[in-house]
Amino acid sequence: MQAFEATNYYFDRAAARLDLSDNTRTLMITPDRELRVEVAIEMDNGQIGNFIGYRVQHDNARGPFKGGLRYHPHVDQDEARALASLMTWKTAVVDLPFGGGKGGMNCDPSKLSRGELERLTRKFVQQIHDFIGPDKDIPAPDVGTDAQVMAWIMNEYGKFHGFHPACVTGKPVELHGSAGREAATGYGVALICREMLGKLGKVVNGTTFAIQGYGNVGSYTAKFLHQMGGKIIAVSDASGGLSQPQGIAIPELEKHVAISRKVVGFKGGEPITNEQLLTMPVDVLIPAALGGVFDAEMARGVQAGLIVEAANGPTWPDADEVFEARGIPVVPDILANAGGVVVSYFEWVQNLQHFRWPLEQVQREEERRMVESFEKVYEMAHRKGVSLRTAAFMLAISRVGRARILGGI
Ligand code: NAD
Repeated sequence: MQAFEATNYYFDRAAARLDLSDNTRTLMITPDRELRVEVAIEMDNGQIGNFIGYRVQHDNARGPFKGGLRYHPHVDQDEARALASLMTWKTAVVDLPFGGGKGGMNCDPSKLSRGELERLTRKFVQQIHDFIGPDKDIPAPDVGTDAQVMAWIMNEYGKFHGFHPACVTGKPVELHGSAGREAATGYGVALICREMLGKLGKVVNGTTFAIQGYGNVGSYTAKFLHQMGGKIIAVSDASGGLSQPQGIAIPELEKHVAISRKVVGFKGGEPITNEQLLTMPVDVLIPAALGGVFDAEMARGVQAGLIVEAANGPTWPDADEVFEARGIPVVPDILANAGGVVVSYFEWVQNLQHFRWPLEQVQREEERRMVESFEKVYEMAHRKGVSLRTAAFMLAISRVGRARILGGI
Protein backbone atom coordinates (compact mmCIF):
# COMPACT_ATOMS: atom_id res chain seq x y z
CA MET A 1 0.00 0.00 0.00
CA GLN A 2 1.25 3.50 -0.79
CA ALA A 3 0.88 6.59 1.38
CA PHE A 4 -1.96 8.21 -0.60
CA GLU A 5 -3.91 4.93 -0.55
CA ALA A 6 -3.46 4.76 3.23
CA THR A 7 -4.82 8.30 3.69
CA ASN A 8 -7.81 7.44 1.51
CA TYR A 9 -8.42 4.29 3.54
CA TYR A 10 -8.87 6.48 6.62
CA PHE A 11 -11.00 8.89 4.59
CA ASP A 12 -13.24 6.03 3.41
CA ARG A 13 -13.73 4.63 6.89
CA ALA A 14 -15.03 7.99 8.05
CA ALA A 15 -16.95 8.72 4.82
CA ALA A 16 -18.82 5.42 5.18
CA ARG A 17 -20.43 6.83 8.32
CA LEU A 18 -21.37 10.06 6.56
CA ASP A 19 -23.24 8.57 3.60
CA LEU A 20 -21.16 10.32 0.92
CA SER A 21 -22.12 9.52 -2.66
CA ASP A 22 -19.41 7.97 -4.88
CA ASN A 23 -19.14 11.18 -6.89
CA THR A 24 -18.69 13.31 -3.79
CA ARG A 25 -16.07 10.87 -2.52
CA THR A 26 -14.15 11.15 -5.82
CA LEU A 27 -14.48 14.92 -5.75
CA MET A 28 -13.08 15.13 -2.25
CA ILE A 29 -10.13 12.75 -2.55
CA THR A 30 -8.88 13.82 -5.99
CA PRO A 31 -6.20 16.54 -5.86
CA ASP A 32 -7.12 19.77 -7.68
CA ARG A 33 -3.69 20.20 -9.27
CA GLU A 34 -0.33 18.40 -9.28
CA LEU A 35 2.89 20.11 -10.31
CA ARG A 36 6.10 18.25 -11.07
CA VAL A 37 9.02 20.40 -12.11
CA GLU A 38 12.61 19.86 -13.10
CA VAL A 39 14.97 21.87 -10.95
CA ALA A 40 18.47 22.01 -12.44
CA ILE A 41 21.19 23.98 -10.67
CA GLU A 42 24.92 24.44 -10.86
CA MET A 43 26.59 22.44 -8.09
CA ASP A 44 29.63 23.78 -6.22
CA ASN A 45 31.92 21.48 -8.24
CA GLY A 46 30.68 22.97 -11.52
CA GLN A 47 28.54 19.94 -12.46
CA ILE A 48 24.82 20.21 -13.24
CA GLY A 49 22.61 18.95 -10.41
CA ASN A 50 19.23 17.56 -11.55
CA PHE A 51 16.38 17.47 -9.06
CA ILE A 52 12.62 16.99 -9.23
CA GLY A 53 10.29 19.24 -7.24
CA TYR A 54 6.62 18.60 -6.47
CA ARG A 55 3.66 20.65 -5.33
CA VAL A 56 0.28 18.99 -4.94
CA GLN A 57 -2.73 21.23 -4.36
CA HIS A 58 -5.35 18.94 -2.92
CA ASP A 59 -8.43 20.99 -2.02
CA ASN A 60 -9.22 24.70 -1.57
CA ALA A 61 -12.93 24.64 -0.77
CA ARG A 62 -12.26 26.33 2.60
CA GLY A 63 -9.44 28.69 1.56
CA PRO A 64 -5.99 28.83 -0.07
CA PHE A 65 -3.99 25.60 -0.23
CA LYS A 66 -1.67 25.34 2.77
CA GLY A 67 1.11 22.90 3.57
CA GLY A 68 4.80 22.26 4.00
CA LEU A 69 7.70 21.67 1.67
CA ARG A 70 9.83 18.61 2.38
CA TYR A 71 13.41 18.12 1.19
CA HIS A 72 14.21 14.42 1.51
CA PRO A 73 15.38 11.51 -0.70
CA HIS A 74 11.98 9.76 -0.30
CA VAL A 75 9.95 12.69 -1.65
CA ASP A 76 7.84 11.68 -4.66
CA GLN A 77 4.46 12.40 -6.21
CA ASP A 78 2.60 9.83 -4.11
CA GLU A 79 4.02 11.09 -0.83
CA ALA A 80 3.25 14.70 -1.73
CA ARG A 81 -0.30 13.68 -2.68
CA ALA A 82 -0.85 11.85 0.62
CA LEU A 83 0.56 14.71 2.69
CA ALA A 84 -1.44 17.31 0.71
CA SER A 85 -4.62 15.37 1.39
CA LEU A 86 -3.77 15.12 5.11
CA MET A 87 -3.39 18.93 5.12
CA THR A 88 -6.93 19.36 3.76
CA TRP A 89 -8.32 17.31 6.64
CA LYS A 90 -5.95 18.87 9.20
CA THR A 91 -6.81 22.49 8.40
CA ALA A 92 -10.50 21.52 8.56
CA VAL A 93 -10.18 19.70 11.92
CA VAL A 94 -8.73 22.82 13.54
CA ASP A 95 -11.13 25.02 11.55
CA LEU A 96 -8.64 27.23 9.67
CA PRO A 97 -9.67 29.12 6.52
CA PHE A 98 -7.29 27.02 4.40
CA GLY A 99 -7.29 23.99 2.17
CA GLY A 100 -4.51 21.43 1.80
CA GLY A 101 -1.30 21.33 -0.21
CA LYS A 102 2.14 19.80 0.12
CA GLY A 103 5.31 19.49 -1.85
CA GLY A 104 8.99 19.16 -1.77
CA MET A 105 12.14 18.20 -3.51
CA ASN A 106 13.68 14.82 -4.01
CA CYS A 107 17.15 15.55 -2.60
CA ASP A 108 19.33 14.89 0.43
CA PRO A 109 19.82 18.31 2.05
CA SER A 110 22.54 16.93 4.35
CA LYS A 111 24.71 16.42 1.24
CA LEU A 112 24.11 19.91 -0.17
CA SER A 113 26.12 23.02 0.67
CA ARG A 114 24.26 26.09 1.87
CA GLY A 115 24.81 27.71 -1.53
CA GLU A 116 23.42 24.66 -3.35
CA LEU A 117 20.38 24.60 -1.05
CA GLU A 118 19.72 28.26 -1.73
CA ARG A 119 20.07 27.89 -5.51
CA LEU A 120 17.80 24.83 -5.43
CA THR A 121 15.13 26.67 -3.45
CA ARG A 122 15.24 29.79 -5.62
CA LYS A 123 15.06 27.74 -8.81
CA PHE A 124 12.11 25.79 -7.43
CA VAL A 125 10.29 29.07 -6.72
CA GLN A 126 11.08 30.27 -10.26
CA GLN A 127 9.27 27.16 -11.52
CA ILE A 128 6.16 27.38 -9.31
CA HIS A 129 5.73 31.08 -8.37
CA ASP A 130 2.63 31.52 -10.54
CA PHE A 131 0.87 28.74 -8.64
CA ILE A 132 1.63 29.89 -5.08
CA GLY A 133 0.93 33.15 -3.21
CA PRO A 134 -0.89 34.58 -0.18
CA ASP A 135 -4.34 33.92 -1.67
CA LYS A 136 -3.47 30.78 -3.62
CA ASP A 137 -1.12 28.38 -1.91
CA ILE A 138 1.12 29.08 1.08
CA PRO A 139 4.10 26.75 1.71
CA ALA A 140 5.73 26.21 5.13
CA PRO A 141 8.63 24.17 6.58
CA ASP A 142 8.58 20.38 6.89
CA VAL A 143 11.28 17.69 7.11
CA GLY A 144 14.58 19.01 5.73
CA THR A 145 13.47 22.64 5.38
CA ASP A 146 13.58 25.47 7.91
CA ALA A 147 13.08 29.20 8.44
CA GLN A 148 16.07 30.03 6.21
CA VAL A 149 14.57 28.11 3.29
CA MET A 150 11.27 29.98 3.85
CA ALA A 151 13.17 33.32 3.81
CA TRP A 152 14.68 32.44 0.41
CA ILE A 153 11.18 31.52 -0.86
CA MET A 154 9.75 34.86 0.27
CA ASN A 155 12.64 36.76 -1.30
CA GLU A 156 12.50 34.91 -4.63
CA TYR A 157 8.69 35.16 -4.81
CA GLY A 158 9.03 38.91 -4.21
CA LYS A 159 11.18 39.29 -7.34
CA PHE A 160 8.16 38.24 -9.43
CA HIS A 161 5.23 39.58 -7.43
CA GLY A 162 6.53 42.29 -5.07
CA PHE A 163 6.46 42.41 -1.26
CA HIS A 164 4.19 39.62 -0.02
CA PRO A 165 5.47 38.10 3.22
CA ALA A 166 2.20 36.13 3.54
CA CYS A 167 3.24 33.99 0.53
CA VAL A 168 5.01 31.56 2.88
CA THR A 169 4.98 30.85 6.63
CA GLY A 170 7.61 29.58 9.06
CA LYS A 171 9.88 32.50 8.16
CA PRO A 172 12.57 33.79 10.57
CA VAL A 173 11.08 36.09 13.23
CA GLU A 174 13.40 38.88 12.00
CA LEU A 175 11.90 38.54 8.51
CA HIS A 176 8.13 38.65 9.05
CA GLY A 177 7.95 35.31 10.85
CA SER A 178 5.77 34.82 13.93
CA ALA A 179 6.93 34.45 17.49
CA GLY A 180 6.30 30.86 18.53
CA ARG A 181 6.10 29.34 15.02
CA GLU A 182 9.28 27.27 15.31
CA ALA A 183 8.06 25.65 18.53
CA ALA A 184 4.38 25.54 17.55
CA THR A 185 4.02 21.94 16.39
CA GLY A 186 5.84 20.52 19.43
CA TYR A 187 3.91 22.83 21.76
CA GLY A 188 0.66 21.62 20.23
CA VAL A 189 1.70 17.96 20.58
CA ALA A 190 2.49 18.52 24.26
CA LEU A 191 -0.90 20.21 24.78
CA ILE A 192 -2.69 17.30 23.10
CA CYS A 193 -0.78 14.82 25.32
CA ARG A 194 -1.93 16.80 28.36
CA GLU A 195 -5.57 16.84 27.20
CA MET A 196 -5.65 13.15 26.24
CA LEU A 197 -3.96 12.07 29.47
CA GLY A 198 -6.60 14.12 31.31
CA LYS A 199 -9.34 12.07 29.63
CA LEU A 200 -7.57 8.92 30.83
CA GLY A 201 -7.51 10.27 34.39
CA LYS A 202 -3.77 11.01 34.30
CA VAL A 203 -1.47 14.05 34.24
CA VAL A 204 1.76 14.79 32.37
CA ASN A 205 3.70 15.11 35.62
CA GLY A 206 5.38 11.75 36.26
CA THR A 207 4.10 10.16 33.02
CA THR A 208 6.76 8.46 30.86
CA PHE A 209 7.25 9.35 27.18
CA ALA A 210 9.31 7.88 24.32
CA ILE A 211 9.84 10.15 21.31
CA GLN A 212 11.05 8.94 17.90
CA GLY A 213 12.68 11.80 15.96
CA TYR A 214 14.47 14.71 17.56
CA GLY A 215 14.17 17.35 14.87
CA ASN A 216 11.96 20.42 15.05
CA VAL A 217 8.83 18.61 16.21
CA GLY A 218 10.40 15.94 18.44
CA SER A 219 12.76 18.30 20.26
CA TYR A 220 10.11 20.92 21.07
CA THR A 221 7.65 18.20 22.10
CA ALA A 222 10.29 16.88 24.51
CA LYS A 223 11.05 20.37 25.80
CA PHE A 224 7.43 21.26 26.63
CA LEU A 225 6.56 17.85 28.10
CA HIS A 226 9.70 18.06 30.24
CA GLN A 227 8.63 21.54 31.42
CA MET A 228 5.23 20.08 32.37
CA GLY A 229 6.95 17.47 34.54
CA GLY A 230 6.85 14.59 32.05
CA LYS A 231 9.61 11.96 32.11
CA ILE A 232 11.13 11.55 28.64
CA ILE A 233 12.70 8.12 29.01
CA ALA A 234 13.80 7.62 25.38
CA VAL A 235 14.52 9.68 22.27
CA SER A 236 16.01 8.87 18.89
CA ASP A 237 16.91 10.38 15.56
CA ALA A 238 18.31 9.06 12.30
CA SER A 239 21.68 8.45 14.04
CA GLY A 240 20.22 6.14 16.73
CA GLY A 241 18.56 6.44 20.12
CA LEU A 242 19.14 6.61 23.83
CA SER A 243 17.17 5.73 26.92
CA GLN A 244 17.27 6.75 30.57
CA PRO A 245 14.61 5.17 32.82
CA GLN A 246 14.92 8.03 35.35
CA GLY A 247 14.10 10.58 32.62
CA ILE A 248 16.52 12.27 30.21
CA ALA A 249 17.83 15.70 31.22
CA ILE A 250 16.25 17.45 28.22
CA PRO A 251 17.99 20.86 28.67
CA GLU A 252 21.36 19.04 28.67
CA LEU A 253 20.38 16.98 25.63
CA GLU A 254 19.38 20.20 23.85
CA LYS A 255 22.87 21.62 24.41
CA HIS A 256 24.45 18.39 23.16
CA VAL A 257 22.32 18.31 19.98
CA ALA A 258 22.95 22.02 19.31
CA ILE A 259 26.65 21.16 18.98
CA SER A 260 26.76 17.61 17.58
CA ARG A 261 23.47 17.75 15.57
CA LYS A 262 22.50 14.26 16.80
CA VAL A 263 21.33 12.57 20.00
CA VAL A 264 23.90 9.77 19.78
CA GLY A 265 26.94 10.49 21.95
CA PHE A 266 24.92 12.15 24.74
CA LYS A 267 26.29 10.90 28.05
CA GLY A 268 23.00 10.97 29.98
CA GLY A 269 21.51 7.75 28.58
CA GLU A 270 22.18 4.24 27.26
CA PRO A 271 22.19 3.63 23.49
CA ILE A 272 19.09 1.90 22.03
CA THR A 273 17.89 1.22 18.53
CA ASN A 274 14.84 2.86 17.00
CA GLU A 275 13.00 -0.44 17.12
CA GLN A 276 13.71 -0.80 20.84
CA LEU A 277 12.31 2.69 21.38
CA LEU A 278 9.10 1.87 19.54
CA THR A 279 8.48 -1.32 21.49
CA MET A 280 9.58 -0.30 25.00
CA PRO A 281 7.19 -0.21 27.96
CA VAL A 282 6.19 3.44 28.27
CA ASP A 283 3.02 5.41 29.00
CA VAL A 284 3.03 7.52 25.83
CA LEU A 285 4.77 6.80 22.53
CA ILE A 286 5.26 9.74 20.17
CA PRO A 287 6.43 9.10 16.60
CA ALA A 288 7.90 12.45 15.45
CA ALA A 289 10.06 11.46 12.48
CA LEU A 290 8.88 10.17 9.11
CA GLY A 291 5.73 8.37 7.97
CA GLY A 292 5.09 4.62 7.74
CA VAL A 293 6.67 3.68 11.08
CA PHE A 294 4.01 1.25 12.34
CA ASP A 295 3.04 -1.79 10.31
CA ALA A 296 0.93 -4.58 11.80
CA GLU A 297 3.94 -6.47 13.13
CA MET A 298 5.46 -3.43 14.80
CA ALA A 299 2.03 -2.53 16.22
CA ARG A 300 1.79 -5.94 17.86
CA GLY A 301 5.12 -5.25 19.61
CA VAL A 302 4.17 -1.80 20.94
CA GLN A 303 3.88 -1.73 24.75
CA ALA A 304 2.78 1.91 25.14
CA GLY A 305 -0.58 2.81 26.68
CA LEU A 306 -1.19 5.74 24.31
CA ILE A 307 0.15 6.88 20.93
CA VAL A 308 0.21 10.53 19.92
CA GLU A 309 1.11 11.01 16.25
CA ALA A 310 3.43 14.01 15.98
CA ALA A 311 4.70 12.83 12.58
CA ASN A 312 2.49 12.79 9.50
CA GLY A 313 1.23 9.35 8.49
CA PRO A 314 3.26 7.20 10.93
CA THR A 315 0.59 4.45 11.12
CA TRP A 316 -0.33 2.12 8.25
CA PRO A 317 -4.02 1.05 8.23
CA ASP A 318 -3.20 -2.56 9.24
CA ALA A 319 -1.32 -1.25 12.28
CA ASP A 320 -4.20 1.08 13.12
CA GLU A 321 -6.49 -1.96 13.24
CA VAL A 322 -4.07 -3.74 15.58
CA PHE A 323 -3.95 -0.72 17.91
CA GLU A 324 -7.74 -0.53 17.89
CA ALA A 325 -8.12 -4.25 18.60
CA ARG A 326 -5.58 -3.99 21.43
CA GLY A 327 -7.37 -0.96 22.91
CA ILE A 328 -4.39 1.38 22.52
CA PRO A 329 -5.79 4.86 21.79
CA VAL A 330 -4.12 6.77 18.94
CA VAL A 331 -4.43 10.55 18.69
CA PRO A 332 -4.19 11.02 14.91
CA ASP A 333 -1.69 13.23 13.10
CA ILE A 334 -4.35 15.54 11.63
CA LEU A 335 -5.20 16.64 15.17
CA ALA A 336 -2.03 16.00 17.21
CA ASN A 337 0.44 17.89 15.00
CA ALA A 338 -1.90 20.69 13.84
CA GLY A 339 -0.25 23.27 16.13
CA GLY A 340 2.24 24.11 13.37
CA VAL A 341 -0.38 25.05 10.82
CA VAL A 342 -2.42 26.86 13.47
CA VAL A 343 0.51 29.20 14.16
CA SER A 344 1.26 29.37 10.42
CA TYR A 345 -2.26 30.76 10.15
CA PHE A 346 -1.45 33.34 12.84
CA GLU A 347 1.72 34.27 10.93
CA TRP A 348 -0.30 34.70 7.71
CA VAL A 349 -2.84 36.88 9.57
CA GLN A 350 -0.06 39.02 11.08
CA ASN A 351 1.58 39.41 7.65
CA LEU A 352 -1.68 40.47 6.00
CA GLN A 353 -2.27 43.01 8.78
CA HIS A 354 1.39 44.08 9.01
CA PHE A 355 1.03 43.78 12.75
CA ARG A 356 2.94 41.63 15.23
CA TRP A 357 1.56 39.49 18.03
CA PRO A 358 3.58 38.88 21.21
CA LEU A 359 4.55 35.26 22.01
CA GLU A 360 2.04 35.02 24.89
CA GLN A 361 -0.81 35.85 22.51
CA VAL A 362 0.36 33.29 19.94
CA GLN A 363 0.66 30.54 22.54
CA ARG A 364 -2.64 31.44 24.21
CA GLU A 365 -4.50 31.38 20.89
CA GLU A 366 -2.76 28.15 19.84
CA GLU A 367 -3.73 26.49 23.12
CA ARG A 368 -7.33 27.65 22.79
CA ARG A 369 -7.70 26.29 19.29
CA MET A 370 -5.92 22.99 20.00
CA VAL A 371 -7.95 22.30 23.14
CA GLU A 372 -11.25 23.21 21.43
CA SER A 373 -10.45 20.98 18.45
CA PHE A 374 -9.39 18.11 20.69
CA GLU A 375 -12.65 18.40 22.66
CA LYS A 376 -14.73 18.35 19.46
CA VAL A 377 -12.95 15.26 18.13
CA TYR A 378 -13.03 13.46 21.48
CA GLU A 379 -16.71 14.20 21.93
CA MET A 380 -17.55 12.96 18.43
CA ALA A 381 -15.52 9.75 18.94
CA HIS A 382 -17.42 9.14 22.16
CA ARG A 383 -20.84 9.93 20.71
CA LYS A 384 -20.41 7.88 17.53
CA GLY A 385 -18.44 5.05 19.12
CA VAL A 386 -15.51 5.43 16.69
CA SER A 387 -11.74 5.89 17.03
CA LEU A 388 -10.28 9.37 17.42
CA ARG A 389 -8.91 9.10 13.88
CA THR A 390 -12.28 8.28 12.35
CA ALA A 391 -13.90 11.05 14.40
CA ALA A 392 -11.28 13.59 13.24
CA PHE A 393 -11.81 12.58 9.60
CA MET A 394 -15.59 12.74 10.03
CA LEU A 395 -15.38 16.27 11.42
CA ALA A 396 -13.01 17.35 8.65
CA ILE A 397 -14.96 15.73 5.82
CA SER A 398 -18.21 17.33 6.96
CA ARG A 399 -16.59 20.77 7.10
CA VAL A 400 -14.94 20.46 3.67
CA GLY A 401 -18.10 18.93 2.20
CA ARG A 402 -20.25 21.74 3.58
CA ALA A 403 -17.89 24.36 2.10
CA ARG A 404 -18.05 22.59 -1.28
CA ILE A 405 -21.84 22.56 -1.24
CA LEU A 406 -22.11 26.21 -0.13
CA GLY A 407 -19.51 27.45 -2.63
CA GLY A 408 -20.73 25.35 -5.54
CA ILE A 409 -18.68 22.88 -7.55
P1 NAD B 1 13.03 17.53 11.01
O1 NAD B 1 13.73 17.32 9.71
O2 NAD B 1 13.30 18.75 11.78
O3 NAD B 1 13.29 16.27 11.96
C1 NAD B 1 13.10 14.95 11.58
C2 NAD B 1 13.76 14.07 12.64
O4 NAD B 1 13.51 12.70 12.36
C3 NAD B 1 15.28 14.23 12.71
O5 NAD B 1 15.68 14.20 14.06
C4 NAD B 1 15.77 12.96 12.01
O6 NAD B 1 17.08 12.57 12.42
C5 NAD B 1 14.73 11.98 12.48
N1 NAD B 1 14.68 10.75 11.72
C6 NAD B 1 14.75 10.58 10.38
N2 NAD B 1 14.70 9.27 10.09
C7 NAD B 1 14.60 8.61 11.27
C8 NAD B 1 14.51 7.25 11.63
N3 NAD B 1 14.53 6.28 10.72
N4 NAD B 1 14.40 6.93 12.94
C9 NAD B 1 14.38 7.91 13.88
N5 NAD B 1 14.46 9.21 13.60
C10 NAD B 1 14.57 9.55 12.30
O7 NAD B 1 11.48 17.40 10.65
P2 NAD B 1 10.25 17.91 11.51
O8 NAD B 1 9.83 19.22 10.96
O9 NAD B 1 10.55 17.75 12.93
O10 NAD B 1 9.12 16.87 11.06
C11 NAD B 1 8.97 15.61 11.70
C12 NAD B 1 7.60 15.03 11.37
O11 NAD B 1 6.59 15.94 11.83
C13 NAD B 1 7.32 14.84 9.89
O12 NAD B 1 6.50 13.71 9.72
C14 NAD B 1 6.56 16.10 9.50
O13 NAD B 1 5.77 15.92 8.36
C15 NAD B 1 5.74 16.29 10.75
N6 NAD B 1 5.25 17.66 10.94
C16 NAD B 1 6.09 18.71 10.99
C17 NAD B 1 5.58 19.99 11.22
C18 NAD B 1 6.47 21.19 11.36
O14 NAD B 1 5.95 22.27 11.70
N7 NAD B 1 7.77 21.08 11.15
C19 NAD B 1 4.20 20.17 11.36
C20 NAD B 1 3.36 19.07 11.32
C21 NAD B 1 3.90 17.81 11.11
